[in-house]
Amino acid sequence: MYDVVIVGAGFAGSILAERLASQQNKKVLIIDKRFHIGGNCFDSFDEHGILIHNYGPHLFHTSNKQIWDYLSKFTTWYNYHHKVEGFIDGQYVPIPFNLNTLYKLFPDKMASSIENKLIEKYGFGNRVTILDLQKEDDKELKFIANFIYEKIFLNYSAKQWNKKVEELDSAVSARVPIVISKDDRYFNDNYQALPEQGYTKIFEKMLTDKNIHVMLNSNFKDILTLEEKTFSLFGSEFNGEVIFTGMVDELFDYKFGELPYRSIDLKFENKKLESYQNATTTNYPNDYDYTRITEFKKMYNSKNDSTTIAKEYPQEFINGVNTPYYPLFTDENNTKYKQYEEYSKKFKNLTLIGRLAEYKYYDMDDIVARALEVYEDKFNAN
Ligand code: UDP
Repeated sequence: MYDVVIVGAGFAGSILAERLASQQNKKVLIIDKRFHIGGNCFDSFDEHGILIHNYGPHLFHTSNKQIWDYLSKFTTWYNYHHKVEGFIDGQYVPIPFNLNTLYKLFPDKMASSIENKLIEKYGFGNRVTILDLQKEDDKELKFIANFIYEKIFLNYSAKQWNKKVEELDSAVSARVPIVISKDDRYFNDNYQALPEQGYTKIFEKMLTDKNIHVMLNSNFKDILTLEEKTFSLFGSEFNGEVIFTGMVDELFDYKFGELPYRSIDLKFENKKLESYQNATTTNYPNDYDYTRITEFKKMYNSKNDSTTIAKEYPQEFINGVNTPYYPLFTDENNTKYKQYEEYSKKFKNLTLIGRLAEYKYYDMDDIVARALEVYEDKFNAN
């Protein structure tokens, strides 16, 4: 009946479903336990008419034209360059830390001296990670590195990950570098935009193919079961392809132990105000229990009477209680993941893909790229 079964209707699952159905006429079943498609990219209009990101802010950015062109088949775009402010020492300053941030927080003379050293060392317009800046010997560069570490990264990481920056894979803090320019934007990619009608519409369009059957509110374990080296679907042996985008430890019944994930408790509030804050997102590394506040109407510059914000309270993921958002990238957890990855290889028709199944910090553009690559290499190779 089906050629392919896909668990999870986020980007990885939906793109592979779309490619296999539209390019190869495969009959695809896509299962998701939630009531909606789109995974954590799901967005919807709230009761105040504001388009909110139900699982927290998702800002699309890429420098890869192929990704941009592919997604453009499913959406038109709203031009948007994301800006973030951080509340540091009583002031709202641009994040990532850049030369404007430097001048806002320090007297001109001191800022100028540090600016010159940063430009001399790294070149104007370049970026350096906090962990690399901390390796500098120069007294002033050391000072600024420690300042940034303590005021921007240390406490944010404690809240977000319950870890120190150094305990995490260095790629995590490298996502928010120190920018040696006056560009206040959060990202520097060539393409930055929001889907004009929201993310959910992209998924709807991807999954409308007559070859794709979507089953929502469905736990994959009730439909797809693991045998010794094969799968059963609805109780019968299944020899088609299985593409799994969920938590790999759950797939294999936690045989090597649980893989930790981080979750976020998002608290939405509607304020009877035209505007709540200056930037779309404000980070609070050192104050409050939440990490950041996002004000959604600022994304599309929509004209509503009120405004909806979301505060993000990071927390441990507990299965059945909350939603996994991020793998917890420590050496120990990455090693545990490798055991699952190795074990998965005995299932010849199984593909693991996505943030949860590959235990990787994919951005949206990364996972689009990965899904198209897996499609070409594994399902479209001659
Ligand atoms: N980070 C931080 N302070 C900030 C912003 C980011 O320490 O003000 C660190 C933190 O570890 C965070 C990581 O950089 O988890 C990546 O930030 P990003 O904004 O990319 O996180 P996401 O939007 O994926 O949650």
